[in-house]
Amino acid sequence: MKEQIQNRVHNQFASDNYAGICPEAWQAMQAANVGFVSSYGDDIWTERACQELREVFETDCQVFFVFNGTAANSLALASLCRSYHSVICHELAHVETDECGAPEFFSNGTKLLHVNGPGGKFDLDEVERVITRRSDIHYPRPKVLSLTQATEVGTLYTPDEIKIASVLARKHGLRVHMDGARFANAVVSLDVSPADITWRAGVDVLCLGGAKNGMAVGEAVVFFDRELANEFDYRCKQAGQLASKMRFISAPWIGMLEGGTWLKNARHANNCAELLAQHLTAIDGVSVMYPRQANSVFVEMPERTATALRGAGWHFYSFIGSGGARFMCSWQTSESDVIQLAEAVRLASSAIG
Ligand SMILES: *Cc1c(COP(=O)(O)O)cnc(C)c1O
Repeated sequence: MKEQIQNRVHNQFASDNYAGICPEAWQAMQAANVGFVSSYGDDIWTERACQELREVFETDCQVFFVFNGTAANSLALASLCRSYHSVICHELAHVETDECGAPEFFSNGTKLLHVNGPGGKFDLDEVERVITRRSDIHYPRPKVLSLTQATEVGTLYTPDEIKIASVLARKHGLRVHMDGARFANAVVSLDVSPADITWRAGVDVLCLGGAKNGMAVGEAVVFFDRELANEFDYRCKQAGQLASKMRFISAPWIGMLEGGTWLKNARHANNCAELLAQHLTAIDGVSVMYPRQANSVFVEMPERTATALRGAGWHFYSFIGSGGARFMCSWQTSESDVIQLAEAVRLASSAIG
C-alpha cells in the first residue's frame, strides 16, 4: 500500500492516460462481474455497448472493441487497404509518428504518405497534390485519407472541413479514416452530434478513444460502411486483439455512454485546458502555440523555464507536435491542479527574470 502511494505521480499534465478510471466506467465493469458469461464478445454487455454506440451515432454501424488505439488504427487501416496502397495523413499524425510502424505492419506494407499543414491539420491542396502527382505503377496507390480528431496538437477539423476533405477523397476513390483518440473532446468543443463529424461528413471508419476519456483500456472501431467490416473479427483475433473476457472491455462503454459520461468527462477536460490557457497567456515570456480547442495546451517558453518547471516536479511532454511543452488535461484534472500549475509556471519564469 505504501509503495502504491509513493508510486503516484503528482503535478502531472503529461497525458490524459496518466489518469485513473472514472467512477462510471469502474462501476460498469463491476456490474459485469457476475457469474459465468459467454466469452469472446458473445454476451449481453457487448451487445448493449454496440447498441449504445449505434444510438450515439444514429446509424446501424458495425462495432468492434480492441485494447488500444494503435491496434484500432492499424487494423482499421489494414482493412481499407491492400499492401500496395498508401494512406495519406498529416506529418504529425499518431499513425505516422507514434505507432512504431504498426499500420504498415498490419497492412503488410501499405505506405503512409504524409503531408503538412498548419495547426496539425492537413492542407487539402497538399493532399490533392500527393494523390494526383503520380498515377503510374511505381507509386503506392493512395487509398485512404486519415485524419485525427482532435488533432495531435489539440486543434479541430470543423464539420465543413471534414466534408470537404471527404469529397476530395471520394473524388479520387479514397476512403476516409478518423483517429478519434480524443473524439469526445471534439464533439463537446464543436457542439455537434457525433454523426455530424463522422458518417454524415463522409467518414467511413472511426477509431473511438476510450482510455484517455476515462476507461481503463479499450477503443472502439466503428465502421459506418458495414461492407468494410467484412472479416474484421478475424483481423482482431489474429492481431491478438480479441479479448476472451470481452465483457470487461465492453461493459465500461455502457457506463461511459449511458447518461453522457463520455461527454461530461471531455467537457471537464476541455474546460480545464481553457482555464489553463487563460492563466498561461497572462504570463510574460510564455505563449500559447495553437488555438485551444480540445483538452491540451501547447506553450512556447524559454528552455530554462521548462527546466525549472521540471525541477519543481512538474510532468509534461515536449516531444509532441513541433516542439513546445504540452500540458494535457483529463477527466481527473482539478481546477486547483490547473491553478497550481499556472502558479508554478509563473514562478519558474520569473525566477530567471
Ligand atoms: C493516444 C493516441 C492514440 C492511441 O494510442 P495507444 O497508446 O495505442 O492507445 C491514437 N491516436 C492519438 C492521436 C492518440 O493521442
